[in-house]
Amino acid sequence: TLERRDHLGADPVAVLKEVFGYDAFREGQGDIVSHVVAGGDAVVLMPTGGGKSITYQVPALVRPGTGLVISPLIALMHDQVDALVANGVRAAYLNSTQSPGERAGVERAFLDGELDLLYVAPERLSGAATTNLLQRGTLSVIAIDEAHCVSQWGHDFRPDYLMLGDLAERFPGVPRMALTATATRATHRELTERLSLPDAKHFVASFDRPNIQYRIEPKVDPRKQLVQFIRAQPEGSAGIVYALSRKSVEQTADYLQKQGLDALPYHAGLDAGIRASNQSRFLRDDGVVMVATIAFGMGIDKPDVRFVAHIDLPKSVEGYYQETGRAGRDGEPAVAWMAYGLGDVVQQRRLIDQSPGDRAYKMRMGQHLDAMLALCETVGCRRQNLLGYFGQSSDACGNCDTCLEAPETWDGLVAAQKLLSTIVRLQRERGQSFGAGHLIDILRGASTERIRQQGHDKLSTYGLGADLTDQDWRSVIRQLLAGGVLAAQGEYGTLGVGEAGAAVLRGESPVPLRRDVLGRTGSTPRTRK
Ligand code: ADP
Ligand code: ZN
Repeated sequence: TLERRDHLGADPVAVLKEVFGYDAFREGQGDIVSHVVAGGDAVVLMPTGGGKSITYQVPALVRPGTGLVISPLIALMHDQVDALVANGVRAAYLNSTQSPGERAGVERAFLDGELDLLYVAPERLSGAATTNLLQRGTLSVIAIDEAHCVSQWGHDFRPDYLMLGDLAERFPGVPRMALTATATRATHRELTERLSLPDAKHFVASFDRPNIQYRIEPKVDPRKQLVQFIRAQPEGSAGIVYALSRKSVEQTADYLQKQGLDALPYHAGLDAGIRASNQSRFLRDDGVVMVATIAFGMGIDKPDVRFVAHIDLPKSVEGYYQETGRAGRDGEPAVAWMAYGLGDVVQQRRLIDQSPGDRAYKMRMGQHLDAMLALCETVGCRRQNLLGYFGQSSDACGNCDTCLEAPETWDGLVAAQKLLSTIVRLQRERGQSFGAGHLIDILRGASTERIRQQGHDKLSTYGLGADLTDQDWRSVIRQLLAGGVLAAQGEYGTLGVGEAGAAVLRGESPVPLRRDVLGRTGSTPRTRK
């Protein structure tokens, strides 16, 4: 068609304007596009919302042939193709949800050179059929989206991605791009290797989202804290509240509604019609709070989400970054708020222990959790910690809770020793181990049935920790777990001495702890300029 011929070899900026309606490339996009248009391979590390799609869509239009996009999320594929078609781009996808007739139609269009972009799921490329089909047409570029899925160390590993290492042999001469929003050094190295991109140029965007204010506070009464946080936001703010389980999603949405907030639930177990209508209300109306599992948000294009709240601890820093990154895509001030508690730590350790994965897998998940806890418990700048995790160094930001109100610290050595020696005694002398609740009862000198029965009031540390409240002790335990001084063990998440515990028992290692402050909900989010 005429229109199509106009794009071929055209100036990328002209295509950007004409087809997508944008005035200019964003920082980084233009260089990537020129490089790929000229036929080079590229590894693109750009945060969620940074604008990765444009970097392969424009080359696909400018270069002759069809751009092949490998994307793992079928639901997302559908939305992207719809959006492209709405812009007049000839886009289609091939996946398992289509009828044989539909698939045949797409294949014919591809072979006839009538497609600008073709989206496929990675598993399609494991078999010979799709490869044969693609070899019979012309490819302009191959874009491997969510390329971190090839990393076995990552949080999102998909075995099908391992099959994408030989695309250069299957489609010689076609420029390849690997794109991801995950930028840890290990992932970066691994995807470059496994996707065989030795000559690719690397484009690493800054991961900083300066307009997002990070806030993490200890969990005491999460729903009340959540309501308090939401009420502190400007009237009519749209937000997403992430919870881990479907049940918790429904209960929380219910609770918020009863508090008079415009909240809706979203999770995979809901009826498809309800899900769709909740989603469209969130997109269309002002000030809707979506309470959702992490399934919600991928591919949701709503730039004015003013806050993202976590009432459960994310499993990894990558996950946290991706979820919080859905706030403030319009560049206006936004808040990422989280409440997290001892229960989260114990529960996630237990989930890891009980997971069917092998030892290496569990270790990896444990490392992800440790990094997440370190972010929660840092007395330094949250953003510095977060960006540091992605290999990016930065100054203290002035736009996170610890920068805005420096946390008070105290010397937790003696408290830690009391706790550790209680644990060691019980273990050595009686072969017993307990969870946080009972240990706190012992330290605070409580007189419970269990303490009397077990004779734990005879322990030398009984009542030695009465100077701290129950809440204080929970804070101590949480921080000691995060620092590896304590270790949650076994099916019941009982507490043991962690790797860093022995040095603390000997008094050789300082134990600076942050004093918990509640309700710092950030009523006046500020943008860092
Ligand atoms: P990513 O895939 O990196 O998460 P997207 O490609 O979905 O990001 O883009 C995020 C948002 O930015 C989308 O709403 C997109 O339309 C918009 N966008 C991308 N590039 C530009 C640009 N050059 N000018 C204006 N908006 C852009
Ligand atoms: Zn900061």
